[in-house]
Amino acid sequence: MKLFPNRLCWGHLYYVMAECQPFARADFGAPTLPLFISFNFWLNACMTIHLLNCFTCNARIPSKMKTGMLCLLVETDQGPVLVDTGLGTRDYSDPTWFTNFFRIITVMPFDVSEAAVRQIQKLGYKPEDIQHIILTHMHFDHCGGLPDFPHAKVHVHKREYEAFTDKKILHWDEYAYIPRYIAHQPEFSLYDNANEKWYDFAAIRLPFEPEMYFIPLHGHSRGHCGVAIKVENGWFFHAGDAGAVYNNETPTWLIKLVLGPHDQRLRQFMRAHPEVLVTNSHMVPEFFVQHKVIR
Ligand SMILES: [Zn+2]
Repeated sequence: MKLFPNRLCWGHLYYVMAECQPFARADFGAPTLPLFISFNFWLNACMTIHLLNCFTCNARIPSKMKTGMLCLLVETDQGPVLVDTGLGTRDYSDPTWFTNFFRIITVMPFDVSEAAVRQIQKLGYKPEDIQHIILTHMHFDHCGGLPDFPHAKVHVHKREYEAFTDKKILHWDEYAYIPRYIAHQPEFSLYDNANEKWYDFAAIRLPFEPEMYFIPLHGHSRGHCGVAIKVENGWFFHAGDAGAVYNNETPTWLIKLVLGPHDQRLRQFMRAHPEVLVTNSHMVPEFFVQHKVIR
């Protein structure tokens, strides 16, 4: 049982009750079932997703194109789970060649307070509270913060892990794999068997509650995945770098070249399913002003 450190809510009471079920059954018999259902309701009601901008990166041309990088802090039955990390604190004090290269071709505020570890601390968590990190993929801006959470198990698609570690550059995007981000040798949990369905997407169940799935959307990188999360009134679907669904100015050919083949399908899915909030990783700054928390 894992209690969230500074954020006790009714959901924790549910866990106390669930763990006490054998005793409760012995003491109270039949009334346990309604209690269980009620506490389950309370649990779902207090699951929260925090939407964090962990990496502002603006285009030089056109200069009006500004983006923040969406990372999620999802409250689950196993404590707070981070989805992608943005850059880590060491990127600011000792940047890699790739981060320096990006600072030349883009405009970054390069502000360490954007690091995920700084932001989760503002929400009342300690770095060691993050025991699980889910990665859409392992490009520098999505996993640079792994060393700030050395205790966390890393959940990623097997193909992505292999692309990161096999030291073969099969595509230009693979220069964005920076070995030092896993030099602390985190424990990995690898996934590759998409034998379930989420809507009409192939899906891999992730071992957390609320219900969560990896949605393989390979193409931007070898093992890139979106992450679908059950929320109170539908679903949250973070499609990572597999599209630019909020950007209607970038030409389709460029989206295909950089982000892969899924953008049009994601747009069609959004139109057909208004009950699903779909996001990509690089969102306009206004998005982060409007969306701070989802329940
Ligand atoms: Zn990427």
